[in-house]
Amino acid sequence: MSFSLEGKVALVTGASKGIGQAIARALADAGALVACTARSRSSLDETLRLISDEGGIAIPVEWDVRDPHAAQPAVDLVERELGPLALAVNNAGIGAGTPALDITPDQWRSVYETNVDGLFWSCQAEGRAMIANGGGAIVNIASISGSIANRNLTQAQYNSGKAAVIHLTKSLAVEWAPVGIRVNSVSPGYTRTPMNERPEVADLVAEFADTTPLGRLAEPGEIAGPVTFLLSPAASYITGADLLVDGGYCCW
Ligand code: NDP
Repeated sequence: MSFSLEGKVALVTGASKGIGQAIARALADAGALVACTARSRSSLDETLRLISDEGGIAIPVEWDVRDPHAAQPAVDLVERELGPLALAVNNAGIGAGTPALDITPDQWRSVYETNVDGLFWSCQAEGRAMIANGGGAIVNIASISGSIANRNLTQAQYNSGKAAVIHLTKSLAVEWAPVGIRVNSVSPGYTRTPMNERPEVADLVAEFADTTPLGRLAEPGEIAGPVTFLLSPAASYITGADLLVDGGYCCW
């Protein structure tokens, strides 16, 4: 049994900051060659510098996951530059915060376009590559909000979209098990990232900590460890699972 990702080609969407940046660093630390993606190439400079300083190998890839036609060229580029794709983490996502009665069609669509549609197009292109390569492993970043409705947050489009991510993950896990691709999701609890510095949630951060049994927010690196495990050979019999990494939040 091994926790190593030595020599494997991996990609992480939304790797410019927050949880995605921590995941890209953790995969590189475990030996993977990591394609870091975001909407603009320059936003990836910090992630690439950190990985390089830590002795890892990473490349930048510009990829807006909302564009259904961008996924395949991005995966093709990763394979040309690094080799056959084996591992993928679909982390790119945006938050929301509007009472249900006030959500406009554009607000509804923009959250689904990134968090659900974009994640599916990413999985589809990654799945095609992994099938050609004889198998692989995918982790989708969902949220506690896919299993519970967060107290004091009005974000119906975000919550329902994350529930869709959890069930999409199970659907792909079943469909792709025969071709050797494991698909799991990780559902972070409240995590200290730029997403939690948005004005609409900034005042609630102390309450997030108080209502979490472990008494604090997660650091991004604490989400990255479980993701790395799920991609590794140590998780070879896990597929279709949703792993809550929430400091116990969903226990009460
Ligand atoms: P951040 O806002 O800190 O980072 C989001 C990342 O997603 C950035 O790298 C951003 O890149 C990228 N991104 C956003 N839109 C797109 C797009 N259309 N195409 C490509 N990349 C995009 O968020 P977090 O790190 O906090 O969140 C990461 C994931 O974790 C999300 O899916 C989020 O829903 C989930 N999550 C977060 C929690 C938290 O408490 N922070 C809790 C539970 C789940 P750029 O802007 O440079 O393009």
